[in-house]
Amino acid sequence: MKLLENKTALITGASRGIGRSHALLFAEEGANIIFTDLKQNEQSDALVAELRAKGVRADFLASNASDFAQAQEVAAWVAENYGRLDILVNNAGITRDQLILRMSVDDWNLVLEVNLRSVFNYTKAFAPMMMKQRSGSIVNISSIVGLNGNAGQCNYAASKAGIIGFTRSIAKELGSRGIRCNAVAPGFIETPMTQQLTPEVRKEWMNQIPLRRGGLDTDVAHVSLFLASDLAGYVTGQVISCDGGLAIN
Ligand code: NAP
Repeated sequence: MKLLENKTALITGASRGIGRSHALLFAEEGANIIFTDLKQNEQSDALVAELRAKGVRADFLASNASDFAQAQEVAAWVAENYGRLDILVNNAGITRDQLILRMSVDDWNLVLEVNLRSVFNYTKAFAPMMMKQRSGSIVNISSIVGLNGNAGQCNYAASKAGIIGFTRSIAKELGSRGIRCNAVAPGFIETPMTQQLTPEVRKEWMNQIPLRRGGLDTDVAHVSLFLASDLAGYVTGQVISCDGGLAIN
């Protein structure tokens, strides 16, 4: 029996990177997949085809996760076309790094809207459906930066720390309805987001990681798979780091 057989999962911002990896792994474990991203493109089309080839239902919806009304439309579409949602992975996220003295209000607002408000939008949009089902697992992708802070990333850190407070609150609020809500805090993961860093900065990070390597997007997806599945049936309100031990430094 696959871990997510007969379950339906939605992952935001999943055409590439960590979200894409979640979609592929969850499909391998038997879940039907709906994923979103800002725009339909070759990557999203290719992922739909790859997911369907695994024998599950898969659909892509172009939708801006930071837009409240668009999240409501996605939930209405899922209700009509799938009838339920078992797993919600709030993954969409961006960075606009800058030291506080140089950070613009626009970059502060944008990062908070895409990274934190999106989590509110989707949780609010899908909570009624999950409450009716009396079951559901919400996995929010935070970051080690939300736990430890990072110079030059105060907007990103605030958004990811906000996700942790939100996760714990929702776990308390919706636990009695059978809905679990947890967060994953990835460390340094090898994706387009981190490949932009200079070799010097990369080396500095590697030296601080007890496991001496960057994480893979599949490392993060494996932690989310546990949280999404019934194996984690008694786990809620938790933040699980996936960082090669970086946060213990
Ligand atoms: P990524 O490769 O940049 O992928 C992010 C995805 O989100 C992209 O497909 C992007 O679409 C999409 N997206 C951006 N804004 C969106 C919006 N408003 N609505 C819907 N989709 C949107 O990033 P990643 O490294 O996979 O990161 C995924 C998550 O993990 C993020 O929440 C990130 O903060 C978190 N994380 C990453 C790391 C790391 O080391 N990479 C570490 C800790 C946490 P476009 O292609 O259109 O831009």
